[in-house]
Amino acid sequence: MAVFDAIDFSQHENVVFGHDKKTGLKAIIAVHNTTLGPSLGGCRMFPYSSDEDALKDVLRLSRGMTYKSALAELPLGGGKSVIIGDPRTDKSTALFQSMGAFIDRLGGNYIAAQDSGISVEDLQIMAAQTEHVAGVRNSVDEHNRLRSGDPSPATAYGVFIGIKAAVEQKLGTTDLNGVKIAIQGVGNVGFGLAKHLHGEGAKLYVSDINPENVKRAVDECGATACENDTIHTLDVDVYSPCALGGAINDNTIDKIAAPIIAGCANNQLEREEHGSILQEKGILYAPDFVISAGGIIHVQFMLSGRTWDAATKHVERIGGTLAEIFQRAEQGKGTTSEIANILAEERIEQANTDVLQEGSDRSLQSK
Ligand code: NAD
Repeated sequence: MAVFDAIDFSQHENVVFGHDKKTGLKAIIAVHNTTLGPSLGGCRMFPYSSDEDALKDVLRLSRGMTYKSALAELPLGGGKSVIIGDPRTDKSTALFQSMGAFIDRLGGNYIAAQDSGISVEDLQIMAAQTEHVAGVRNSVDEHNRLRSGDPSPATAYGVFIGIKAAVEQKLGTTDLNGVKIAIQGVGNVGFGLAKHLHGEGAKLYVSDINPENVKRAVDECGATACENDTIHTLDVDVYSPCALGGAINDNTIDKIAAPIIAGCANNQLEREEHGSILQEKGILYAPDFVISAGGIIHVQFMLSGRTWDAATKHVERIGGTLAEIFQRAEQGKGTTSEIANILAEERIEQANTDVLQEGSDRSLQSK
């Protein structure tokens, strides 16, 4: 199995393979970049069909976390971990204890959080073996410092702020009253988003494979229920994918009628070139890893003992970052995703320069 020559290998600092014969643990931790701080990212459990698939996933996802945290202006690097196994049949206390010990051996270079296949309870078992796990406590403490493990409300608020930035850029207004928005997937984030938008008078259209979630949005947000396989074709102002990845693909892209796409789902573009096609069609796309950063902001603020209010203020900066990306795209500097990547690289480069500068200042002072 190629590692340094793997397509998704991108100057990762550490790629560590963990195995424990007793518990059956087979896991990989990838630390992509720690220029801005320790790497933080979810731990995912999935029945990968091969070790290569697991490696590909962890390399790709950890790199994405570096960019996401850099764009969210957080003192964090990018990392991710995967456990090879079926979350429905292969979970055990011993397995997660073993994973916790594996994470601990990296000495804080990687901080694990929740991802698909992993519950807060699983994280709590890991947390008994290592302090380098985020998102395992509940609620807000007596000083209003964040202790909650659920990042969804912060993610929903960030997407709401991002939609406002996109509407301002494309439609020239900051007023959402009467703006038509189609949300695909009204789960934890999508429903939270619907509530914010409803509060500002937006006209909502929703779909979900879970009819109860649709009903909740209809009852509580006055939304119109729509078919899930055609919601992207609606003649609305904003299409907001908030379910699974790959919503923008060869089958859907020509039928998207909205001038704006802005939602929380990860990896919305099935392929990078879909970003260029959207741009050619004049559709403004808010890159998913920028607009959905509210959750990671919440986790970082929780880790550093900050308040809910401070986190909310920081989440609001997503609007400014998106506005900068949209403006650069309008100046013909690339697709919004390409520009987001460049902006993240600029921030990391700047941090590197600052560290070098500090180092040389210190050595001059000591002479
Ligand atoms: P969730 O499971 O609570 O909600 C997803 C909703 O989508 C559910 O109601 C589900 O029934 C529905 N759904 C699933 N498949 C669907 C389909 N094919 N068509 C329509 N609806 C479908 O998850 P969530 O936490 O709200 O996250 C939603 C997306 O946002 C995911 O892609 C997730 O990775 C991403 N995301 C979430 C967060 C967070 O803080 N929760 C942060 C960043 C990104």
